[in-house]
Amino acid sequence: SQEPNYTFAVDTAANQNFEQLNREQPKLSLVIPCYNEEEVLPETIKRLSELMTQLCEKGKIAPDSAVVFVDDGSRDRTWQLIVQQADADALFRGLKLSRNRGHQHALLAGLHTVDGDAIISIDADLQDDIRVIEDMVDAYRQGDDVVYGVRKERTTDSFFKRATAEGYYKLLAMMGVELVFNHGDYRLLSRTALEALKKYDEVNLFIRGVIPTLGFRSSEVEYARDERFAGESKYPIHKMLSLAIQGITSFSAIPLRIIAMLGLTVSGISVVMVIWALFTRLLNPEAVPGWASSVIPIYFIGGIQLLSIGVLGEYVSKIYMETKRRPRFLIDRIK
Ligand code: UDP
Ligand code: MG
Repeated sequence: SQEPNYTFAVDTAANQNFEQLNREQPKLSLVIPCYNEEEVLPETIKRLSELMTQLCEKGKIAPDSAVVFVDDGSRDRTWQLIVQQADADALFRGLKLSRNRGHQHALLAGLHTVDGDAIISIDADLQDDIRVIEDMVDAYRQGDDVVYGVRKERTTDSFFKRATAEGYYKLLAMMGVELVFNHGDYRLLSRTALEALKKYDEVNLFIRGVIPTLGFRSSEVEYARDERFAGESKYPIHKMLSLAIQGITSFSAIPLRIIAMLGLTVSGISVVMVIWALFTRLLNPEAVPGWASSVIPIYFIGGIQLLSIGVLGEYVSKIYMETKRRPRFLIDRIK
């Protein structure tokens, strides 16, 4: 195929023999999407370097484990910092996307490129407690293929973020989407689970929605979510909203069914209205029908039609994007 020859890419065919997964002392790959993170990277590098050394010394991970930063088209010095670190220390590697593609795609690019037995994804700002990386590795060593990092409490998140997140989980559950409550993208995947995930080649992949559907032996580890120690959130409200809509429309056709039901109900009501109008006219020939009874349905039905078209459009745009089969990320260079 036309796949570029990555220097540390995984040959999927050569990895079919999952029996060879090293459970004793896995080669660990950390995948870290970074978008304009120059303020946090030095500290992140320091903390991760310490942690990885410790895990290595305890014999829990292989010495050739790696921390892979994915630069998601940053406009600051993120990539320079990554290159500098990769030159100085073999533990660190870098991957630069050709432009900003968003957190989910950056994460996917990293996941498709690393070669560890166990792979952990985590954010660059280390808001998710890195001490549970050891717990995740322990679970993997006990035989788990998916280990979810789950937030114990979200006191550091704003009230707004907590409330919207909670409402959203409930909404998704109602739509029949399996999600692990209070789990973001902080998780461990075994090579086996990752190879399964890589088979999902849809363009709009909602990673945290797909993982629970994969199966495999899984467990959860709890942690408290910290504040960002530097820089500000790269997830503004419009990106959150977009991810939220993505989560629903890429997993559930229930919104379409709700429209159908609404349409049915409204049609039923209009039939009653017509009969009522006819009777009024027949029984009382002088009655002038009020404008309200004709104007209100126009607004009402108009509103419902617009809403329906909007939801339909959401799905049509998904089909449109999927049929293009465009690559989800393009790698500029590898360090
Ligand atoms: N991120 C990314 N591309 C983007 C936006 C964010 O790779 O377009 C990365 C960011 O650098 C961080 C992670 O995704 O490592 C999560 O972002 P952030 O911490 O800003 O989100 P929050 O914790 O506020 O939800
Ligand atoms: Mg963050």
